[in-house]
Amino acid sequence: MSLLDTEGLTKEFGGLVAVDDVDLEIHENESVSVIGPNGAGKSTLINLITRMLDPTAGDIRFKGESITGLEPHDVVQSGISKSFQTASIFPDLTVEENARIAALAAEHGAFRFNFLRHQRRYSEVDKLTRRTLDSVGLLGQREAPAADLPYGDKRRLEIGIALASEPDLLLMDEPTAGMSPEETHATVDLIERVKEELGLTILLVEHDMEIVFNVSDRIIVLNRGRVITQGTPDEVQGHPEVQEAYLGG
Ligand code: ADP
Ligand code: MG
Repeated sequence: MSLLDTEGLTKEFGGLVAVDDVDLEIHENESVSVIGPNGAGKSTLINLITRMLDPTAGDIRFKGESITGLEPHDVVQSGISKSFQTASIFPDLTVEENARIAALAAEHGAFRFNFLRHQRRYSEVDKLTRRTLDSVGLLGQREAPAADLPYGDKRRLEIGIALASEPDLLLMDEPTAGMSPEETHATVDLIERVKEELGLTILLVEHDMEIVFNVSDRIIVLNRGRVITQGTPDEVQGHPEVQEAYLGG
């Protein structure tokens, strides 16, 4: 069954069609990458799915139900989370305090729908904070101010923050941008590990083709807002435009 699908999804900015009539389907437990040149519409597509942007036309369904009319926090509650770049971290707080805020927000969201959870709330937040730090390997650094973390660990914390809402679908927009080769490697390992351990479905925007071809079950190629091809890494690799744009002709 498809976890997420879009139909005719379109976003115009003034006269510019950033996302143009996109139909896509993401299945449970898949890792799907979106690739395409700068300005292709990759970030806009992600921002439409998280409901940070309103589509001009089209529909987005998650677990079979339309989420096109939902507010962003309800989208998170329904099981979609996006790992934000640095913006989600409070640098003056410790690693643990950052994780606790994410856990509180997640529990608060759940609490709104179930008053019986009230009693359990505080111990749940403790547990969720610990699980969040553990899932991204930051328990040992929990006392450190977030600002003091090396760059790769900051990105790790951001992924942890995104995981605190216990999503089914994790969206990531260029998670390895600006990382050293070692940090990139560690992040890719982390993504693959959390995917296995938490049974996540992943939708990844990534420009590093080595990562894309290694971690993706399926690749969607966007250009000028349109899907020009999609398929397994092997299928996509053979496409002339992909060859030309990414693989040196
Ligand atoms: P990508 O992430 O693939 O590089 P984007 O989704 O960021 O591409 O952008 C797609 C197109 O939409 C680009 O031409 C970009 O300039 C334009 N765009 C993105 N966001 C906005 C916005 N808020 N207002 C106007 N134009 C935008
Ligand atoms: Mg982008």
